[in-house]
Amino acid sequence: MNFSEVVYSKLPLPLQNGAVSLYGVYWKWLRFGGNYRFHEKSYSLRNRYTTDQWAEYQRNKLSELLEICVNNVPYYSREWSQEQKGEALKGDLLALPLLEKEPLRADPSDFVRTDRSPLLKITTYTSGSTGTPIASICTPSEIRDSLAIREVRSANWAGVSFKLPRATFSGRMVEPDPESTGPYYRFNAVEKQVYFSPFHLRPETAHSYIEALKKHKIQWMTGYAVSYYLLAKFILEAGLDVPPLEAIITTSEKLTPEMRTAMEKAYRCRVYEEYSTVENVLFASECEQGRLHVSPDAGIVEILRPDGSPCDPGEVGEVIATCLTRSYQPLIRFRLGDLAAWDEEPCPCGRSMPVIKEVVGRIEDVVVGPDGRQLVRFHGIFTHQPHVIEGQIIQESLNQIRVRIVPTEGFSDTDKSDIVNRVHQRLGDRVKVIVELVPSIERTKSGKFKAVISLIEK
Ligand SMILES: [Zn+2]
Repeated sequence: MNFSEVVYSKLPLPLQNGAVSLYGVYWKWLRFGGNYRFHEKSYSLRNRYTTDQWAEYQRNKLSELLEICVNNVPYYSREWSQEQKGEALKGDLLALPLLEKEPLRADPSDFVRTDRSPLLKITTYTSGSTGTPIASICTPSEIRDSLAIREVRSANWAGVSFKLPRATFSGRMVEPDPESTGPYYRFNAVEKQVYFSPFHLRPETAHSYIEALKKHKIQWMTGYAVSYYLLAKFILEAGLDVPPLEAIITTSEKLTPEMRTAMEKAYRCRVYEEYSTVENVLFASECEQGRLHVSPDAGIVEILRPDGSPCDPGEVGEVIATCLTRSYQPLIRFRLGDLAAWDEEPCPCGRSMPVIKEVVGRIEDVVVGPDGRQLVRFHGIFTHQPHVIEGQIIQESLNQIRVRIVPTEGFSDTDKSDIVNRVHQRLGDRVKVIVELVPSIERTKSGKFKAVISLIEK
């Protein structure tokens, strides 16, 4: 915990709500003050751009950005060769090297432009489960930009708005006591926003989350996909009555079809997926046709094969993104570590923003077979397992998989052998499968759920 978290954790509940609201005033100004409206209008104006207009927009933005990188960003002006700088000044993105996470992790300030010194700089951290988090540094205008795109392309597409009362599951520490008997949320009166704690969600606490929705007349919810899915399962099992909601927009973890079905049944509203990163290097959101559109004004997205050539539509490859909305700490051809594929078909909604068919998963979520085969979406072994509340796969070696399961009361040996069989089907019979029943599965520091953990070098 940092200093403010320590202070917060010692406050009585009404003062914690007050602190959340006071923080909310600052937070609201930071995000929705200043030139927020300008950003919002700009995104709305570009909603119906044609493919040619997008190409021109990206060309212009990229050329400004690459000039900044060559002249004013220490990392690029040092690491890029003379030839690469020449290509950069011509706007040729593909001539530039891919950027790994490591240099950014090692020295985030090496990526900050030297010709600007804003009065206020905001640093946010990615929640890597291992190692040092990556610091993303930006200006208030860039924060507002990232909120404006969420309002216009995510909330509005789902028929809601950040101006309406909403609930959020995020990594923010809202209830410091792990043994707390509730409430498991805090209310920010300034934004009419309920912050849920992802760490206290259990079958026996689910009803108190629902009560918060009723008490504060929440109209829509956004945040961690897995937390909303779990809450949905608890709602369905206990037959809890959820007040009417307009939409759920999930972030952070991958939304599987099974999760979506359970959530739409429990919350009785549509579920939309949003795909973004803390660095805001790309942004994709779901339209009314259920397709995930990449916003070309947020970033230039490439999906590449291992040899660096672009993937064909439908072919899974690595996602590389160049951020067009942040020039204070620019990220050029950044390796996100995600795997995805472009859709072969244009979207019937008529928007000309490219469509991602599927974000398949994280590269670190790949499970490797003894014969070298690589499998993504391995957590699919838990699909249609009615006695599994949560499941996690740990690859301990090429020949050993540990499956950790939070079971329901009805979990039996049949369920266990079914799971072992499913692992064998995917990786072969030689792999040893250990099924471990656990009361709960720990989250990362920021409350995220890791479906797959690999302990082998890749
Ligand atoms: Zn569409």
